[in-house]
Amino acid sequence: MTASPRRLTIAIDGPSGSGKGTVARSIADALGYRHVDTGAMYRAVGWRARQLGVALDDEAAVAAVAQRATFSLDEGRVVIDGFDVTTAIRTPEIDRAASSVARLPAVRATLVERQRALGAEGGIVMEGRDIGTVVFPEADVKLFLDAAPEERARRRANDPAHAGRQAGLDRVAVDMRARDELDRTRAASPLVKAPDAVLIETTGLPIEEVVRQALEIVRRTGDR
Ligand code: C5P
Repeated sequence: MTASPRRLTIAIDGPSGSGKGTVARSIADALGYRHVDTGAMYRAVGWRARQLGVALDDEAAVAAVAQRATFSLDEGRVVIDGFDVTTAIRTPEIDRAASSVARLPAVRATLVERQRALGAEGGIVMEGRDIGTVVFPEADVKLFLDAAPEERARRRANDPAHAGRQAGLDRVAVDMRARDELDRTRAASPLVKAPDAVLIETTGLPIEEVVRQALEIVRRTGDR
């Protein structure tokens, strides 16, 4: 696919294991756009707060960590305040820490502001939970990926990025369900499909097919 002359803002949301990471990365590669994984930002803040001994429910203190942090999110690496946490943030402890800090409105406000700044020029594929609803409600393309819980747990259990510390499939499924529940029911920016987002149900679909469908939707928008 050739890059569209208009540099689009593409929002991809969905729960973990829905395929949104692979789809976001593939679309960004295909279009020559920047890819931003906002989940990695919440994870990095959770990691840094723990490292600094900040209580994860101390909203003002965690927000200060997020506010002061320097992030580098390029080339698939995640660096916060000079610490390369690419691998360290993919553990069950940081799954939970990220969910905890993501519940705090002051933390979200800080990270959302930074995410908007990253996408100010367009030409971006941003993935997360609230990109189409809160970060970029005017995004050119909004996709919401979902899949059956068992399949999402299976994908997560087989995800090499999480492989080192992964427990058995049952444990992954239980942890994922708990985290999903938190993400969907929290007061601040819960995980919800934007009314104008296109739903892609990925259960049973090979990831290449999901990427193909997503690129087709993006291409139609770029041609308008
Ligand atoms: O996508 P990922 O599983 O890495 O995200 C980690 C956690 O960060 C999620 O469980 C969710 O609580 C939070 N998150 C969020 N909003 C985003 C991205 C992630 O609340 N835009």
